[in-house]
Amino acid sequence: MKILVLNCGSSSVKYQLLDMVTERVMAKGLVERVGSKDASFRHEKGNQKLQFNMDVPDHKVAIAKLLELLTDPQWGVLKSVKEIDGVGHRVVHGGEKFACSVKLSPDVRKTLEECCKYAPLHNPANLLGIQAIDELLPEVTQVGVFDTAFHQTMPRKAYLYAIPYKFYEENGIRRYGFHGTSHRYVSQRVAELMGRDIKTLKIVTCHLGNGASIAAVSGGKSIDTSMGFTPLEGLVMGTRSGDLDPAILVALGSEYGYSFSDIDNLLNKKSGLLGLSGLSNDMRDIEAGMENGHEGATRAFEVFTYRIIKYIGSYAAAMNGIDAIVFTGGIGENSAKVREWVLKGLTYLGLELDEALNRSPEKEKLITKPGSKVQAWVVPTNEELVIARDTLALINEK
Ligand code: AMP
Repeated sequence: MKILVLNCGSSSVKYQLLDMVTERVMAKGLVERVGSKDASFRHEKGNQKLQFNMDVPDHKVAIAKLLELLTDPQWGVLKSVKEIDGVGHRVVHGGEKFACSVKLSPDVRKTLEECCKYAPLHNPANLLGIQAIDELLPEVTQVGVFDTAFHQTMPRKAYLYAIPYKFYEENGIRRYGFHGTSHRYVSQRVAELMGRDIKTLKIVTCHLGNGASIAAVSGGKSIDTSMGFTPLEGLVMGTRSGDLDPAILVALGSEYGYSFSDIDNLLNKKSGLLGLSGLSNDMRDIEAGMENGHEGATRAFEVFTYRIIKYIGSYAAAMNGIDAIVFTGGIGENSAKVREWVLKGLTYLGLELDEALNRSPEKEKLITKPGSKVQAWVVPTNEELVIARDTLALINEK
């Protein structure tokens, strides 16, 4: 069984072809600047890498080209696209309708269109990818795996905002949460690594990348998460502010003449690590800046790690305890310094960091001492594998 995983963004298409007997990645790639005459294509087969630029007016052209590459005599891994048994799509927003992955039937697609209002940049791109596969591989089963689905188990007290209730009832304004596929994967994986049944565990999962979110996973279910109605709420991110007093938005508009689109741009593109440091949105630059005594980098790092410590504390309270904390995402997986600063703020939980393990080169590892009351782990995320597994499971259901 071979499954193609597609992640269509507004101007990009990421893909992986997986052999589901071994769960091995056969080929993968990334198309960037979709919509431009000079789009960039990166394709990998094993450790051979191909890179070129071409005219890619839309998602369908990008997907047609990647299918061509997958069957190319030199760069491909398939004799024919007929070998593809299913296509799994990462879909950003499933609203309240989808608490698990589903086959993309006509009814499901209609509901997805309704969800576009919640994710106007992302869901339309996901739909374009689905339509492109309809046209290019009309026989194949397509499955949607939603970023919001894992968090649909949150109780009302966690997902409601304290604004008039009609905004929830009439407009669907509530916490949805994102990165659900990643939080689900790393929480299940850590339970496996601990040799414990996930139903007995209280886990805090920290997905720290350019976008960052944190979730409280109790008994295998998400009971709270830091991203909200949109992926802007919560932790400090590369260029996103995360939590802030909503009255700041009012002040920006009424006192300083910012329009809605100025505010949107400021909070999504110019804030976070970049805005605080005045240096970069990239944690590697922030850490290097700190080492060179850059004041902005130091304050950005402090706010970034302090916010994570506060969230972990609040989720310990929400779950009445924690058994394990998991770090994932580009920063969570690679920055020993971020993990150290965060975990040193949690000794009150009985957490004892093992500094040597934290700095060791292993990718998947326990980083606390044997006697530590709370374990901390690093687990590389693998959203594509979850999407491929869900797709395969739904195909096998028929
Ligand atoms: P992601 O969005 O999950 O791909 O994560 C991207 C972010 O990971 C980058 O913006 C960097 O800030 C961060 N990152 C990657 N490698 C390292 C590293 N070795 N040390 C610190 N941060 C890193």
